[in-house]
Amino acid sequence: MTHEVPPSLPPADAAAPPRGRAPGGSPDAGPAYPAATSAAPASTAPSSTAPAGTAPAGTRPASTASATTAPAAAEEADVIVVGAGPAGSATASYLARAGVDVLLLEKAQFPREKVCGDGLTPRAVKALIGMGVPVREQDGWVRNKGLRIIGGGIRLELPWPELSSFPGYGLVRTRLDFDEILARTAQKAGARLLEGVTVTGPVLDDDGRVTGVTARSTADAGGPERSYRARVIVAADGSSSRLSLAMGLSKRDDRPMGVAVRTYYTSPRHDDDYLESWLDLWDGPRQLPGYGWIFGMGDGTSNVGLGMLNTSDSFGHVDYRDLLRRWLAGLPPEWGYIEENRTLPIRGAALPMGFNRTPHYTRGLLLAGDAGGMVNPFNGEGIPYALESGELAAEFIAQALARPDAAGAERVLMAYPQALKAAYGGYYTLGRRFVQAIGNPKVMQFATRHGMPRPALMRITLKLLANLTEPRGGHATDRVIHALSKMTPAA
Ligand SMILES: Cc1cc2nc3c(=O)[nH]c(=O)nc-3n(C[C@H](O)[C@H](O)[C@H](O)COP(=O)(O)OP(=O)(O)OC[C@H]3O[C@@H](n4cnc5c(N)ncnc54)[C@H](O)[C@@H]3O)c2cc1C
Repeated sequence: MTHEVPPSLPPADAAAPPRGRAPGGSPDAGPAYPAATSAAPASTAPSSTAPAGTAPAGTRPASTASATTAPAAAEEADVIVVGAGPAGSATASYLARAGVDVLLLEKAQFPREKVCGDGLTPRAVKALIGMGVPVREQDGWVRNKGLRIIGGGIRLELPWPELSSFPGYGLVRTRLDFDEILARTAQKAGARLLEGVTVTGPVLDDDGRVTGVTARSTADAGGPERSYRARVIVAADGSSSRLSLAMGLSKRDDRPMGVAVRTYYTSPRHDDDYLESWLDLWDGPRQLPGYGWIFGMGDGTSNVGLGMLNTSDSFGHVDYRDLLRRWLAGLPPEWGYIEENRTLPIRGAALPMGFNRTPHYTRGLLLAGDAGGMVNPFNGEGIPYALESGELAAEFIAQALARPDAAGAERVLMAYPQALKAAYGGYYTLGRRFVQAIGNPKVMQFATRHGMPRPALMRITLKLLANLTEPRGGHATDRVIHALSKMTPAA
């Protein structure tokens, strides 16, 4: 399922827009934290020192009524994107390509590790290609042909479907360099990336509309804050999205949530050309809760992990690291998934699914990626949805900024949640029902027992779970999946 693309943006190689309105900052400033330490103390900085003319017509500039203390003279941009993960870098990249002055604030310094399975389906590959990221093998990408599913005592290799809308291959890449590649892509397109800058809160006007953010150097937690101002702010700060929280947008309890842990082992299976997914995990004769994966990284290691959904009775009541060790202890020793071969600590993180934070636009703030709970409930994949929602957010923002008045701009921004719903709403509602059903181990056992012996059925299931269908026409199964998604209310 792909979203309808509103008016197209300039191609990736279009001339980069003028950059660097930062006072004294190098336009290409990578790691530099703008001269914040010399700023006047917050209490002495009147809001009137902020540069004028950045607020949309009809809205007031940031005032001292802000939820946070008013910091020194603000750096300004048309748009501020908080977080340079896949969602933030995609948003910033597409905005910059549309000629918008965009400031991308990231608390970490690249390269940085991120807890992930590192698996990219054809849906993610398509989004990367659209963003202008070279995905050739000589650029360090490792390709895979499909998904191997292991469950109910059966092992099934399902190639990615051959479709006009998606490439027939997936990729793996550690997030250590994947996220840096995306951030540099945004920077190359013209976005001003500031690394090592932790956003501490929104700056609000008297109407509660966000007109900027406060931030400080990550390296100096007790250091001074400074403010950044923009007409539109994007929260792309991941699952916990403190910026959304500060704007009153908390997680929805009625939406699915997953937790997953992963680590890496040196292994002879590092060059596996299939992503491998385990539907049932065993500790001797005892079935363990959760689902597992083994992805060969092509660099001598495998990314191995397991996840669990909050519809499972065991959710939150088990030691996930211990679970991983128990599962791996039962796998063939020649695969090498033993303590001595572990190259990184076992680390875990949340998977916010099925739009678990809404609305996706309010009072000057758009949500993209995990901040908006956009992980696919069917398969726990979040990167393509982070990239796609970033692109969509950029399209709406670019259109909004071109409206001559604030009311017109607001109308455009208010339509972003509707566009997200049209793209994923019905599909995610189906996904929520799926997650509810498989939370019952008996349903999962039944599905595994009856599905796995039927490869044709599993090929259709793969299309459904990975959201890989032709948006128009295509095979009858594509049309059925589409009809189901469209008929299901996008709640
Ligand atoms: C164990 C595990 C395995 C997974 N495996 C896969 C997989 O194989 N394939 C897949 O597609 N998805 C997978 N996912 C999901 C995927 O990791 C996420 O959906 C994806 O990272 C979302 O991207 P994002 O840009 O929205 O958020 P993130 O990747 O979380 O990026 C958010 C960024 O914001 C920055 N940030 C946060 N707060 C601030 C702040 N205050 N100021 C400045 N910057 C800030 C962070 O440093 C980070 O760089 C997995 C998730 C987990 C937990």
